[in-house]
Amino acid sequence: MSEVSLHTKISGSKTRKQSSRVYNLSKKDLLAVTEHAPDVICRFDTAFRLLYVNPAIELATGIPTAAFLNKTTRELGMPDEHSSNWEEKISFVITTGQSATLEFPFLTPSGLRFFHSVLAPEFSDDGRVETVLSISRDITEKKELDKKKEEAVSFVSHELKTPVTSLKLSTQVLKQKFARGGDAYTAAHLDRMDKQIDKLTNIIGDLMDTTRIEQGALKLQKEEFDMNILVKETVEEVQKTSPQHSIVILGKSERSVCADRFRIGQVITNLLTNAIRYSPDAADIQVTIEATNKEITISVRDHGIGIPKEQQKRIFERFYRVEDIEQAFHMGLGLGLYISSEIVKQHHGKIWVTSEFGKGSTFSFTLSLL
Ligand code: ADP
Repeated sequence: MSEVSLHTKISGSKTRKQSSRVYNLSKKDLLAVTEHAPDVICRFDTAFRLLYVNPAIELATGIPTAAFLNKTTRELGMPDEHSSNWEEKISFVITTGQSATLEFPFLTPSGLRFFHSVLAPEFSDDGRVETVLSISRDITEKKELDKKKEEAVSFVSHELKTPVTSLKLSTQVLKQKFARGGDAYTAAHLDRMDKQIDKLTNIIGDLMDTTRIEQGALKLQKEEFDMNILVKETVEEVQKTSPQHSIVILGKSERSVCADRFRIGQVITNLLTNAIRYSPDAADIQVTIEATNKEITISVRDHGIGIPKEQQKRIFERFYRVEDIEQAFHMGLGLGLYISSEIVKQHHGKIWVTSEFGKGSTFSFTLSLL
C-alpha cells in the first residue's frame, strides 16, 4: 500500500469532519505517523483481507510485514474462534459505519500475546464503508499484571477470612460474658468491636465475590421462593442497622421466582445499605415490588444525595465510586453495585438507576417470574 492511497482513504468524504486534524497532516507526516506508531495499524477490505500493515506488526509478532499482506486472519493461522470474531466485528463496522473494539490472543514465534483493537470505518466518496482500519495494542503485560493483582486480592481475602471469623466468635463470647457480669462499659466496647468486625467481614466477602466473578466461579443455586418474604426479611435485617431511617415496602407479587435466594437477598441488602449510607439527612426509603405477566421488578428509592447524571452509567463498574466531597466520609470499595449487577446479569435480569443529583436515587432490578 503506497503512502498516497493510505492518506486518500483516511481523508475520504465521511471521515472529513471527524478527522480534520488528519486533514492538516501532509501525506509524508501521515505515513511517518503510521510507520513509526508503536501500535499495530492494519487495513482490511470487505473480504477480510489485509491491505496494509505498519512495521509495528513485525515488532509485535516477530513475523515480517510482507507475510501479512493480502491474507485473511484465517490464512494467517488464527484459530477459527478468533477469526470469526474478527470477521464479525469487521462486518459490523462495514454494515453500520460505526467503530468496534475487540480483544484477542495471537500466537507469535516468541509465545502467546494478547491484543486490544479498535476498528474504525473508512468511507468511499459515495458514503459506503470501503475498508476497515484497525489499531491494535499489545496488552500482554497489562493482562499479566491484572492477573497477579487478582491473585493477590484472592489470596489476601482468603487468608483474612479465617482469623476474622474466629475474632468475631471470641468478641461475641466476651461481649455476652461481660454483659452477664454487669460490666456494661466493657460490653459496649466489645459491641463496637463486633460491628467493626462485621464491616471487615463484608469487605472480605465483597473481595472474594469479585474474584469469583472474574474467574467465572460465582455459581447460582436456584430454588423457587416467595419474593415478598425475602424482601420483608431483608428489610427487617437492614432496618435494625439504622433506626433513624424508615424503610417501607409497597406492592407485592402473587407469583414466585426461581432464583438464587441468598444472592438476590445480597442484591437487596446492597441496595438498601447504599440507600441508607447515601441519605444521611433523609429518613424515608421505599422498596417497591411490581409484577407483570413475565417479570418482577424490585426498586429501592431514597431521597438522599443522588448521583450526577454523567456518573450514573459508570457506578456498576468494578471499584467505581462517585467523586464527590460528601462521599469522602463514606468508606467503600465500589464493589457492591458491581457484584449486584453481575448477580442480576447471571439471572438474565436487568439492573439500572434513575437519579437526580441532590434529590435521591431509585435502583431497580428485574427477574423473570415462574
Ligand atoms: P460503595 O458504596 O462501597 O462505594 P457501591 O458499588 O455500592 O460501592 O456503589 C458505588 C458508588 O455508587 C458509591 O461509591 C456511590 O458513589 C454511588 N451510589 C451507590 N448507591 C447510591 C445511592 N443510593 N445514592 C447515591 N450514590 C450511590
